[in-house]
Amino acid sequence: MLKNRCSRLKRFFEEYDLKAVLITDLRNIRYLCGFTGSEGVLLISQDHAWFLCDSRYTAQAEEEVKSAEVRECGVIRIDTVAALASEYGLDRIGFEAAHTTVTAFRRMSEKLTGIELVELGTNLDEIRICKDPAEIECLRTVATLSSLAFTSVLSDIKPGIREVDIALALELEMRRRGAEGKAFDFIVASGERGAMPHGRASEKIVQSGDLVTIDFGALKDGYHSDETVTVACGKPESRALEIHAIVRTAHDLAIDAVRPGISCKDLDEVARSYIRNNGYGDYFGHGLGHGIGLEIHEMPTLSPRSTAVLEEGMVITIEPGIYIPGFGGVRIEDTVVVTVDGCDVITSADKQLLVL
Ligand code: ZN
Ligand code: ZN
Repeated sequence: MLKNRCSRLKRFFEEYDLKAVLITDLRNIRYLCGFTGSEGVLLISQDHAWFLCDSRYTAQAEEEVKSAEVRECGVIRIDTVAALASEYGLDRIGFEAAHTTVTAFRRMSEKLTGIELVELGTNLDEIRICKDPAEIECLRTVATLSSLAFTSVLSDIKPGIREVDIALALELEMRRRGAEGKAFDFIVASGERGAMPHGRASEKIVQSGDLVTIDFGALKDGYHSDETVTVACGKPESRALEIHAIVRTAHDLAIDAVRPGISCKDLDEVARSYIRNNGYGDYFGHGLGHGIGLEIHEMPTLSPRSTAVLEEGMVITIEPGIYIPGFGGVRIEDTVVVTVDGCDVITSADKQLLVL
């Protein structure tokens, strides 16, 4: 499996005429060699791979790293990279420019004398864009855990509770069910705060009649989940019912349209045009969704500017919303796996308007 993942680098070797690739981003390291610790680098040539870490991680690396030779190095790892490069004639090395600070780059250039360093940019992360079966299993597990945790705290959501207490109850429930942590700071936005698409849980007390948008996700085995439910606390106003129904239909239409071959831009337009035709086009200001995996937001991006096309194995979110300043908002989000002829929805909390 890991060898298969490493083979996805092949096109970079060809396109950039490289002798080796230096991987420093921890998500890419985990993806390519299995190491889950927090420091190390991976050097991959056409026919060999070395994982370099200091003594704190040697035992862990020897257990976890399956697709590379583990080498313990001193505090200055780049010296070991330089030594390997000269021993094996690796005189043209690609690196992840998007994950390298200017300081790290200067140091690398200083130490790796006589080696051409080639910027690979964010496009290197594209190796992770289609998930393999092991990853889909992890994403399903974390999505299920997170949806069940949400469903079990629903009874806590009632007028009089603070937004932060909803977030805390949900996080605790996820941890109880085996999550390593939360995937991001949960969004709990009630009443007028619902007009902020990224309104983090505040001390605000939920009032009767408020819509409450809750965007949550768990982290397990390195993989994230992402889901949003908007519920009503007490009897909602008619406008709240109207925008919830529009967002829900936009969400359902987009999910029905997911299949390999559709462009992310066209998929975005399925939901966006429905919202626009119902008079709320100015109130849906963000993209329809994003890829998810070892990062909460990864490729592809679903937006009017997106250039990606869906392929089987991609795992994406579908999350249309309507946000009305001074009134409130609704977002509904599910995570789906693109299958051969459509998609599987892997998040499972109820998306009907629940009146609590
Ligand atoms: Zn979300
Ligand atoms: Zn999302």
